[in-house]
Amino acid sequence: MNSAGLSFTGAESLEDVVGRCVFDLIAPEFREKFREFHEKVCGGEAGTLEMEIIGLKGVRRRMETHAVPLKYGPEGEVGQLAVTRDVTDVRRAEELIAAHQAQLLHVSRLSSLGQMAAAISHEITQPLSAISNYAAACRLLLKREQPDLDTFSRHIETIAAQTHRAGETLDRIRTFIRGGNSPKQSCDIADVITGALDLMKAELRNRQVRVEFRSPETLPAVMADRIQIQQVITNLVTNACDAMQRLPENERAIDIICQHDTDHIVINVEDTGPGLNDLSQETLFEAFSTSKSEGMGLGLAICRDIVTAHGGTIVAANAPTRGAVFQFTLPVSKEA
Ligand code: ADP
Repeated sequence: MNSAGLSFTGAESLEDVVGRCVFDLIAPEFREKFREFHEKVCGGEAGTLEMEIIGLKGVRRRMETHAVPLKYGPEGEVGQLAVTRDVTDVRRAEELIAAHQAQLLHVSRLSSLGQMAAAISHEITQPLSAISNYAAACRLLLKREQPDLDTFSRHIETIAAQTHRAGETLDRIRTFIRGGNSPKQSCDIADVITGALDLMKAELRNRQVRVEFRSPETLPAVMADRIQIQQVITNLVTNACDAMQRLPENERAIDIICQHDTDHIVINVEDTGPGLNDLSQETLFEAFSTSKSEGMGLGLAICRDIVTAHGGTIVAANAPTRGAVFQFTLPVSKEA
C-alpha cells in the first residue's frame, strides 16, 4: 500500500494496516459485492468495482478499484494488484450537478408557467375591457325611458363576439405554449385586418384615434391563423394608441398599409407618436422589455412569435417625419 492508500484509509503508518483484513475497511453495505469481486479476481479475471470504505478514523469515502490477478510462487499462488482511486469529490460534484439540473428544470417550468400567465393576461385585457365598456353602455341604455333596442342588441352581439374572441385567444396561447401548431387556413389578409379593427372600434373611439387602412383591391391569399394575426394587429394598434396618448386628439392617426410582391404580403402599421427611443430590435421585441409604468413588455414579443411561426418577419423603425413604423411580412400561400 502506497502513501496515497495510507491516507485514504486514514492510517498514520504502514504498521496501522499491516496484518489487518481489507474487508474491515469496506462499508457494510458493500461487503457482499466486494467479496464477489475479490473472488472473481482470485479466479483469474480482472475487474472494476465502485464501493465505499470507512477509514480507520471513521471517514467514509467513495472508491473505484481496478484489480488484476497476479500469479506468483511455485504453486501458482494468486494475489491481486489493485489500483484504487478516491472518487468521493467527483461523485459529490456529479450529485450536485444533477440536483442543480433538477432545480433548473423546475425553475424553467415555473418561468414558462409565469410567461403563459403573463401572456394570457396581456392578450385578454383588450377583449375584457371592450366587454366591460359595452356592458356599461347597455346599462346606460336601459336607464332611458325608451331604450334603443337595436343599439342594445348590437352591443350584446359585440359582447358575445368579444367573449368568443377571448376564448379563441386563450386556445391559441395554450396551443402555442405547448408547442403545437395552430390551425392555419387560406385567408384574405385585408379581411383579417378589418375584422381586428372592427373588434377595436370602441377602444379606438374612446381613445380618439383615427385609423386608416389601405390595401390593393385584391391581395394574394396567405396561410394564416386568423385569430393570431388579429392578435398582432391588436397589439401593434394598441401600442400606437399608447404612444400617441399625449398628442392633441386631432393628431392621433394610425395608417395600416398592405402591399405585396410575388412572395410576401407586407403590412405597415404607422403612427404619429414620438417614435421609438430604442431602435435595438433585440431589446424591443424581447419579452418583458417595456418603457411604460403599467406595461408588461409582452405585446411585441407575442407579435414576433406569431409572425415567425407564420414564416414571416417583423421589424420596427422610425418614420422619416414622425412616429414609429412596424412592418411585418407573411408569405403568400403557394396553394392559392
Ligand atoms: P408594452 O406595450 O407592455 O410596453 P410591448 O412589447 O408591446 O410592451 O412594447 C415594448 C416597448 O416598445 C414599449 O414599452 C415602447 O417603449 C416601445 N414601443 C412599442 N410600440 C411603440 C410605438 N408605436 N411607438 C413608440 N414606442 C413603441
